[in-house]
Amino acid sequence: MSIDRRTFLGVVGFSALAIAGRSSIAAPVAPPLSTRWAMVIDPRKCLKDEGCIDCIAACDKAHNVPHLPERAHEVKWIWREPFDKVFPGQSSSYTEETLKERPALVFCNHCDNPPCVRVCPTKATWKRADGIVMMDWHRCIGCRYCVAACPYGSRSFNWLDPRPHIKQLNPDFPTRTKGVVEKCNFCEERLARREQPACVVACPEKALVFGNLNDPASEVRELLRGRYSIRRKPELGTQPEIYYLV
Ligand code: SF4
Repeated sequence: MSIDRRTFLGVVGFSALAIAGRSSIAAPVAPPLSTRWAMVIDPRKCLKDEGCIDCIAACDKAHNVPHLPERAHEVKWIWREPFDKVFPGQSSSYTEETLKERPALVFCNHCDNPPCVRVCPTKATWKRADGIVMMDWHRCIGCRYCVAACPYGSRSFNWLDPRPHIKQLNPDFPTRTKGVVEKCNFCEERLARREQPACVVACPEKALVFGNLNDPASEVRELLRGRYSIRRKPELGTQPEIYYLV
């Protein structure tokens, strides 16, 4: 069978177009993954050593969190609360005793639907695209609407000048003043340097895992796929982004 020049060129041209078309389908450019930061806590690992406060100490040091003698003046970024107070109505008489009897680690939940952000009259607090609920201390007028709106007690008000009560000053992080509110910032300053949060790095048991919920291959997603988890006061619709494995 013979094939003339025009037919040959037509076949070659079509084949080239088909190959080009196939190659563009075979190697599509993946859209970049968006980020939604979240924390997963394994309370069983955390409670291995009851006296351990490494995560709290690391956070306080990194963020110049003051240590005030009066409980009424306390400023907290990470702390512990009794299980029943953290998860009211979420335990039964059959919940494992080790979980119920020991305190749980708590922070700002960086809620997806944060009531604290809605009530701030000066926009001193806002939610970033990656989910971190931020604070601008220069814009805070100390009205404490956010403190009242947060159903988790995650915001602290500086009733006194905090600076004399900082144990060891970190010159790389700002200090606050009397009359402003503060809270956990998910170590946004460390994330900007591609570092994990200070509490996560400090934990000797690796009980805290931080990562991108939007990435199906992330460790946080893997943990949430494999174990049942609970969040604080889910009935309020705030959508906390701290998950506790139970
Ligand atoms: Fe706001 Fe409280 Fe939720 Fe943190 S835990 S985002 S302070 S409502």
